[in-house]
Amino acid sequence: MLVLETALERILAAIPPPEAEQVLVKNAHRRILAADIVAASDLPAFDNSSMDGYAVRSADLTGAGPESPVALHLAGAVAAGGVFAGAVQRGQCVRVFTGSPMPPGADVVVMQEETRLAADNRERVVFGTAAEPGEHVRRRGEDIRAGARVLAAGQEVGAGTLSVLAALNFRFVSVARRPRVALLATGSELREAGEVLAPGQVFESNRVTLAALLVEAGAVVRVWPLVPDVRDATRAALEQAFSDCDLVVTSGGVSVGEFDFVKAAFEDMGGRLEFWKVAMKPGKPFVLGRWREKCLFGLPGNPASALVTSLLLVRPAVRRWQGARVLGLPVYPGLLAEAVANRGDRRHFMRVRLDEAGRVCSAGAQASHSLGALVTANALLDVPPDTVWPPGTPVRVLRWCI
Ligand code: AMP
Ligand code: MG
Repeated sequence: MLVLETALERILAAIPPPEAEQVLVKNAHRRILAADIVAASDLPAFDNSSMDGYAVRSADLTGAGPESPVALHLAGAVAAGGVFAGAVQRGQCVRVFTGSPMPPGADVVVMQEETRLAADNRERVVFGTAAEPGEHVRRRGEDIRAGARVLAAGQEVGAGTLSVLAALNFRFVSVARRPRVALLATGSELREAGEVLAPGQVFESNRVTLAALLVEAGAVVRVWPLVPDVRDATRAALEQAFSDCDLVVTSGGVSVGEFDFVKAAFEDMGGRLEFWKVAMKPGKPFVLGRWREKCLFGLPGNPASALVTSLLLVRPAVRRWQGARVLGLPVYPGLLAEAVANRGDRRHFMRVRLDEAGRVCSAGAQASHSLGALVTANALLDVPPDTVWPPGTPVRVLRWCI
């Protein structure tokens, strides 16, 4: 039985390098960059005002104060998007707005609120304070310098990043292709929701959750019809899945029962089993298989086992397939709100809830078939074998939803 970290290493080693494709920036959200992003221009591209006010020469306001106001001649105005023809001369000011290019000659903007127009002459602006050069001026390149590496290959494009790309005049961006992932559920007892159950049958419930997790990891998911526990039918479904998709995820049929056919059917089609069984609970019967450059992830069918193995072993693989730098779930600190015990001999990935105050509670019954805990769980807690942790123990949880 493999240690989780070893299993993950072997999985990642089996993933081929990413393939790049160009997408419009507006379609790049959540994609993984395939190349570094280097700024071709300064941001801002020109000195401009950060306020509605007046552009002046700071030297003209030396000594200005409430008791000794200085009046300057209003030489013109420049709107955002405009250009001031000429330069600000000594004794002059120019009306500017947020985003207006700085008129040549001026070195500072005084906020409109700190000025008034002379009562007798609307072309004279009265300043009651001095101003430091550069105040309320956004300098060319102060935000991002031309030539700077703004983002690195392997980073994920977030909503904020889209603004940066657009401001730097990127229309297309090079991102990793998303893997097409075939998602199969095996089990003769399974029925689609909406069907009528015969005695002994259950509604299939893993594919919706696994599809959601795969999409979150960046996959394009193709959901297969249910596969009965029949060796040939399993082989046929796997062959079709491998010919259509880049990665294949199955649920169920990987244990030791006479009706668990995933491993045998995969070998029938020429696949090679890399390993079976990982020292974790839930999720022990996880299988990694390889067929040419493609991988099979055989997840156990119990819902909590499928969820946990998907998060810990499939998600990193899907992210690596896209060249992502960060593969695992984000880790959050917390304090146990209740005692936690693992009396077994395998690491237990408990389904827990981390609240906003940083308290960590069990999300409910922890059996691998229990679905109830999945309603409130938002994180996994890795509890080592033979461990009892009292309330108040500082822990780190792997967060998989809000
Ligand atoms: P297996 O891994 O095939 O031995 O299945 C273990 C348990 O999980 C059995 O009780 C199955 O009925 C149940 N199970 C397997 N696959 C699914 C599924 N896709 N949806 C709901 N339950 C499942
Ligand atoms: Mg089964």
